[in-house]
Amino acid sequence: MRYRLAILASVFALALLVLPGAAFGRADAASRSASTHQAGVALRVIYVDVGQGDAIILRAGSWTGLIDGGTPGSDDAIIAELAKTGAKRIDTLVITHPHADHIGGLLDVISQYKPRLAVFAAAGDTATWKNVKNALADVDAKLKQVKSGAVLAFGKLKGKVLSPASLSDDANEDSVVILLDAAERRFLFTGDLTGANEEAVGAICARGPPVYVLKVAHHGSAYSTSNSFLAQTRPRFAVICVGKNSYGHPSPETVARLKAHDARTYTTQRNGTVTVTVDTGGKATWVLSGGQEPLAAGPKR
Ligand SMILES: [Zn+2]
Repeated sequence: MRYRLAILASVFALALLVLPGAAFGRADAASRSASTHQAGVALRVIYVDVGQGDAIILRAGSWTGLIDGGTPGSDDAIIAELAKTGAKRIDTLVITHPHADHIGGLLDVISQYKPRLAVFAAAGDTATWKNVKNALADVDAKLKQVKSGAVLAFGKLKGKVLSPASLSDDANEDSVVILLDAAERRFLFTGDLTGANEEAVGAICARGPPVYVLKVAHHGSAYSTSNSFLAQTRPRFAVICVGKNSYGHPSPETVARLKAHDARTYTTQRNGTVTVTVDTGGKATWVLSGGQEPLAAGPKR
């Protein structure tokens, strides 16, 4: 009797082990055939042409993100691109740092697209920063200070905060840096990163696979994007968000370094709004709203 019970128990246990496995197997086969026939979009990244400033829209499924909000007066350009995506709200707004060329065009964007969450590292002390904070409060956005090690939910994707580990008194150096991986394509967003924090980000990236698209820090300034940073990040493509300016951005030295490291480089000044779409199979499609020639030609994909 005891023996029969033991056999019954083990048959039952076996059924429990096998049945869920079979169910998963069917689900896997179904999703595999779906992705073969019609690969969905894993991530769309839109480097909006806002002149001399940064504004980058992210879409992952129905999730919407915005990294920075351009120069004063660029609200309309950002809103026009957001409208094309079909987004109704911004789920996460990343404020890399509180300089006017990164937060200047946010007020109308915030009132129309009511961010649910806004993350930042260094706070500002300017009137522009206070206005942005007030606008976020008006739409009940949650405000969260982040540092390296934080992981933000970007829809089904994970936005890893690589910097800053702590705050210095240099807003550029304290830029929030985000690494995003979609179907094994890595996107690195650097704000105006420079100095020791750039070295720290390079060291982290050196331990992982190459970066697919590098958002070049600080509009192509000569004081960012060092040779060692490029050797560590290994970008296949680079996008410089830049417009008419008196700083000499993008600096010829930085462009020469990008060229030497074989990064195919586009700029918003030359190529307009740059849109990169990655499907769930990892295939990437590029659309440039302006000129089609890169500033520095690396090997094509
Ligand atoms: Zn800037």
